[in-house]
Amino acid sequence: MKKIKKEVKNRVHAVPMKVNTERCKGCFLCVEFCPRKVLAVSEHVNDKGAKYVVVARAEDCTGCGMCAVVCPDCVIEIKGS
Ligand code: SF4
Ligand code: SF4
Repeated sequence: MKKIKKEVKNRVHAVPMKVNTERCKGCFLCVEFCPRKVLAVSEHVNDKGAKYVVVARAEDCTGCGMCAVVCPDCVIEIKGS
């Protein structure tokens, strides 16, 4: 029972999407379009010199896929899709 509870908890907090921070060009379309305000701009830059996007509120992500749809460079992957 304890193991099942732990697995359920992990599933609830698993983020259903992933940002490839090295390929992100910092246009922030995904930040603007996320209906749950899950994404935020990093204070750091990647090798391209772009401030990339990070998952700031993972627990609010529904996996709706809007961020992946609007990303012009297909940098965001929706897991299981
Ligand atoms: S999958 Fe939906 S809720 Fe999650 S970060 Fe992308 S747009 Fe926001
Ligand atoms: S839309 Fe794509 S390229 Fe633009 S900030 Fe988001 S992840 Fe980066």
